[in-house]
Amino acid sequence: MLSVLGKSTAGSSVLKIDFDGALLAVDDLLRPEPIDTFVVPGFIDLQVNGFAGVDYNDPASSHESIAGSIQKMFTTGVTRFLATIITGSEERITGAIKNLVAAKHKFASAHMPEGEALAGLHIEGPHLSAEDGPRGAHPLEHIRPPSIAEFNRWQEVADGNIRLITLSPEWPDAPSYVSAVVRQGVVASVGHTKANSDQIKAAVDAGATMSTHLGNAAHATLHKTQNYIWDQLAEERLTASFVVDGIHIPPVFVHSAMRAKGLERSVLVTDAVMPAMCEPGPYKLGQVEVELRANGSVVLRGGERLAGSAVRMNQAVGNTVKLASISLQQAVTMATTNAARVGRIAGRQRGLVPGEKADLVRFTWDAENYSLTIVETIVAGISVYKS
Ligand SMILES: [Zn+2]
Repeated sequence: MLSVLGKSTAGSSVLKIDFDGALLAVDDLLRPEPIDTFVVPGFIDLQVNGFAGVDYNDPASSHESIAGSIQKMFTTGVTRFLATIITGSEERITGAIKNLVAAKHKFASAHMPEGEALAGLHIEGPHLSAEDGPRGAHPLEHIRPPSIAEFNRWQEVADGNIRLITLSPEWPDAPSYVSAVVRQGVVASVGHTKANSDQIKAAVDAGATMSTHLGNAAHATLHKTQNYIWDQLAEERLTASFVVDGIHIPPVFVHSAMRAKGLERSVLVTDAVMPAMCEPGPYKLGQVEVELRANGSVVLRGGERLAGSAVRMNQAVGNTVKLASISLQQAVTMATTNAARVGRIAGRQRGLVPGEKADLVRFTWDAENYSLTIVETIVAGISVYKS
């Protein structure tokens, strides 16, 4: 049995947590020594396209390089994530699925914590809006209507590891597609859409429970009171993810949208792409030429259109405290139990409670600069990073 001590973000107490692979006991110390580090559940990221120079969409990414990128992710406090595959040909999507699932199986059979950390797959596309704006950086030539037959082929190759699908409800077959994937235990999320109110409601009635990076991938100009952002904010059955990198959505939107949605229905994702954790410069995401700028934005080369983010989850938590004017505890909840609940991550939905998986993060918090520094990351009881 192992133990860690850390301050609670919920109050002034100091916690002693005993664990093996699972949390065994979580006790408030009666006479604690002063301590600087906080302890919280490990961060969960439901949208990671690539990290530290490794593109999860590339079927040729080596398993060693994938393991290396996950080790880099551990330094940001992320303990579980959904590798995210974007719009492409069926051959390319299937190739990426095959490669990631083979990597996960290999890590798991070698008892590497990277296997647990790669919790499953999020397929973002290809059933998105074809329109410029909502489509974002997804390649137009591969946008296509929902097909359950194709989903079933993906899921078979994935050995059941597809956990989340982002699609636009504007397609006529969206409701039947949503109810079919939800029946298989997969989360359906609304995103990259120009759907109207009725279409969004129909997708939610069919079982959609999430909005993908709400506020991004939208038209530059919308009707002031009738649009898909208001529809999704108002829909209480949807939990929304947000990319709080300080670039994708402006501070006033973060502040207002999280309040409209409710803090309990808000989740942080990084939407990180391969250049995250790398030096600024030109990179290639599949066939797409992108550029990581010094300000941390990732844009299509020669333009301004965003192609994912380079934010790290520890930064996203700090940014959210600042931009949404909420407490550290509230922002941490968005990156942990809220994400586990909407993403249906087993053993992580109740927080620091005995019986939950022993995924923990210890960190220090500089409240003046909203800076969160990871001290230690623990995945399923194994220390995977120490500063
Ligand atoms: Zn997206």
